[in-house]
Amino acid sequence: MKPPPFGYRAPVTLDEALDALAARPSGKVLAGGQSLIPLLNMRLAAPPELVDINRVAELDTLHVGDGGVRVGALARHTRVERSAAAAAVQPLLRRALRHVAHPVIRNRGTVVGSLAHADPAAELPAVLAVLDGTVDAASTRGRRTIPAADFFVGPLEPALEPGELAVSAYFPAAPPRTGTAFMETARRHGDYAIAGVAAVVTLDDDLRVSAARAGYLGISATPLVLDLTGAAGPHGDWTAAAAHVRDTVDPVADIHAGAAYRRHLTGVLTERALKRAAAEALRKAE
Ligand code: FAD
Repeated sequence: MKPPPFGYRAPVTLDEALDALAARPSGKVLAGGQSLIPLLNMRLAAPPELVDINRVAELDTLHVGDGGVRVGALARHTRVERSAAAAAVQPLLRRALRHVAHPVIRNRGTVVGSLAHADPAAELPAVLAVLDGTVDAASTRGRRTIPAADFFVGPLEPALEPGELAVSAYFPAAPPRTGTAFMETARRHGDYAIAGVAAVVTLDDDLRVSAARAGYLGISATPLVLDLTGAAGPHGDWTAAAAHVRDTVDPVADIHAGAAYRRHLTGVLTERALKRAAAEALRKAE
């Protein structure tokens, strides 16, 4: 299929991109195009103008520091996935990225584009949410930092105002004695997940669980984050946590899976992911 007609701007600086978006606030940013172009071709979106940011070199950044990983709007999935420095500071990123589509799509699609697309079944929104990350947004009106908890408003609905561009996303580092795990179930590897979980477990000096959080994809309109610290059982037993999650979640039903199956899956994935994350935390602490 062919897209509806649209205007096209290809700025080379961020300021030019923001000016272009200000001139046509109902226009859309074109990043990797791996979600937007299919939507146009299927005529599910018809923006009057595309602002292509692929020539804006200042957005093609990946900064890794002790505090976390800052991913610029043009950093492709593959670049972040392959960064050993990013994986060392925040291993969840690489672990989740390996489940995002296929290598060819990851070569072109961007991390920030995936967040801005805000698909409830996507991996990276759940990762940003469980880590309490942030998105930096800019427009001709100024800049602001949006916490993950406020960024995902609804399915395909980020908290970006008309004319605003997501400049970067920040994924905080894993604290000491912290383990992480990412697990999902998809019909085929690379498909969007039926359900998935990003788990983070931190141990205290006595090797007791001091924090356990899980971020879910595929079960609700926006990423769901649950604090499971109180549900940690002795000797690495997470069955109570899994039962709590099964009782708590209210999964969506769609053509891919019913609510009951998603509820069951969420419990199973929770137990496995928390167990793996806790084992990693223990290895790091010893
Ligand atoms: P684009 O397609 O360019 O844009 C997507 C949306 O975000 C548009 O509305 C655009 O305007 C907006 N946008 C992009 N960047 C910005 C910005 N900086 N500021 C403001 N708005 C912005 N994704 C998954 O997470 N998991 C999967 O399993 C998965 N499977 C896929 C399978 C296939 C066959 C395909 C084609 C895609 C799949 N994707 C999957 C989507 C892929 O990860 C995309 O790369 C990603 O969703 C969007 O990134 P993009 O850079 O391509 O964004």
